[in-house]
Amino acid sequence: IEQSAYQNDKLAMLGKIAAAIAHEIRNPLTSIRGFIQLLRPHLTQLGKEEYSRIILGEIDRANDIIYEFLNSSKPSAPMKQEVQINSLLKEVILLSDSEAHMKGCQINHETYDENLTISIDVKQIKQVILNIVRNAMDAIGELEDDRGGRIDIITKREGSYGEITIRDNGKGMDSTTKVKLFDPFFTTKAAGTGLGLSVSYRIVRNHSGTIRVVSNIGEGTEFNIYLPLVE
Ligand code: ADP
Repeated sequence: IEQSAYQNDKLAMLGKIAAAIAHEIRNPLTSIRGFIQLLRPHLTQLGKEEYSRIILGEIDRANDIIYEFLNSSKPSAPMKQEVQINSLLKEVILLSDSEAHMKGCQINHETYDENLTISIDVKQIKQVILNIVRNAMDAIGELEDDRGGRIDIITKREGSYGEITIRDNGKGMDSTTKVKLFDPFFTTKAAGTGLGLSVSYRIVRNHSGTIRVVSNIGEGTEFNIYLPLVE
């Protein structure tokens, strides 16, 4: 009986996710359809360019939603491997540096413990850190002033956990955003999918870890990721 109750739960959950996906994909499809209808021969060159830009953007958005959904729902048992937190972070920072530079932010890495070993699915945890770092860049990009974007990544031991802090001096979050940020499809961005943090949360929970957030509007945001250390 327990087994079938569990299966029913899973089915109900899948149904909900499928409905949400269908809903989210319909929006970009509707606007693509609308703009293609507007593409009439008398349209100016400028108009054509503007509409193509919107259509391409919407196609990318639909693609992102499907891609992130597939990524998050894959029944992939985590492929665990022992790694040093700091060498993992060095790789992620290398991946993000040119993007950060383009967006006018600087990434700093500080560590209080050189030897912090965790047992993780490297691909999944890299995705989590990249999601959070990209969000930090976006939050800096949306600033009105020119304060000079700064992302601090700090690693240290916290009891039996490794703590990865990712702190930005971006726009911060209001109280509604703070309540909803881990909900699937919650986004405040025009081109966001709202899947990054819900997927990240699930990945970290699957690693017996947790994520904490502190944010102040106008000041910035700090994410703390905790992952169990291999002793
Ligand atoms: P997306 O990035 O596609 O919007 P996420 O799930 O990654 O989806 O994030 C959800 C929302 O949380 C974002 O739209 C944004 O409003 C908020 N958010 C996440 N990280 C930050 C941050 N560092 N600073 C400010 N807001 C953030």
